Amino acid sequence: VKSIPEPIPEPIPESIPENPSPLPVVETFHSVQGEGTWTGTSAFFIRLAGCDVGCPWCDTKHSWNMARHSQRTVADLVAEAKAVAPAIVVITGGEPLMHDLTDLTGGLKSAGLQVHLETSGTHPFSGQFDWVTFSPKRSKLPHASIYAQVSELKVVIVEPSDLEWAESHRAELPAHALQFLQPEWDTPESYHLIFEYVLHHPQWRISLQTHKFTRIR
Ligand code: SF4
Repeated sequence: VKSIPEPIPEPIPESIPENPSPLPVVETFHSVQGEGTWTGTSAFFIRLAGCDVGCPWCDTKHSWNMARHSQRTVADLVAEAKAVAPAIVVITGGEPLMHDLTDLTGGLKSAGLQVHLETSGTHPFSGQFDWVTFSPKRSKLPHASIYAQVSELKVVIVEPSDLEWAESHRAELPAHALQFLQPEWDTPESYHLIFEYVLHHPQWRISLQTHKFTRIR
């Protein structure tokens, strides 16, 4: 009987490709991660421009239009992240998977940095990550490629029907994925709703936007 050969793992690039495409960047900043599993961790954020999801309560609407933001090279972003020397680099948006993240994440990992992603999962997955936060949104369905990559599911809750929406994503997650419900900042009722739900559904945890409570960016 022939044994099935093991799949050959894809090589990790040892350096940044020669001419990777630049990316539209809203901002970069050094702070602490305010949400989810890595709350309180020193983090360098790269906020990429572009989003076609259209959440009505979005707090980064200025990120939606890519054309409004300047392009930065991968080498420049990697050099800035390396100089900051954070515990983690968080690639966020906007919706970062609107871009091919292969070169950026390859460059960051070549620099020895731990790379995290925050995404709605609405575009095909790309890049190499140490941690993937999947935050599905009701305005646009996720792409099937996201589910196998998820480290933590984080669902923003505005109203009771959002809890059913949150539950609908659990079946396709990897067994190790953590699950968070997060109240929508400007909807006070959502805090009580989540608190009551988590009491009776212990597979979920509460994620709070601690950077907003503490007024730290
Ligand atoms: Fe805003 Fe994120 Fe929703 Fe895009 S996916 S509209 S950036 S909250």
